[in-house]
Amino acid sequence: MLKELKFSRLTTFTGRNGTFKCAGVELIDYTDRVQISPVTSKGNVGRCDIDIPVEDIPALIEALQDIARENYDQIPHGPTCAKRVHGAAECDCIKAELMPT
Ligand SMILES: [Zn+2]
Repeated sequence: MLKELKFSRLTTFTGRNGTFKCAGVELIDYTDRVQISPVTSKGNVGRCDIDIPVEDIPALIEALQDIARENYDQIPHGPTCAKRVHGAAECDCIKAELMPT
């Protein structure tokens, strides 16, 4: 199975051929591992990848969520978040899910 995750904004990735704009990542499921590769702004898969053992995926997710919580103030509200509406009391977007505990 192949999945593509598009980022909300461009970043960069650096591989053997230099640094390129990164629009997201491609995830390839090899059942015992998942291969993550960058996708350029032109939609091409970059020449660099990393294999994550499938049993380590939960720990990877937890580590990424820890980083997101540590940088909570940098996470923008989503386009449909009620917090963006004047007078709304609660945030109902991804920011709320990642609220530091
Ligand atoms: Zn929000």
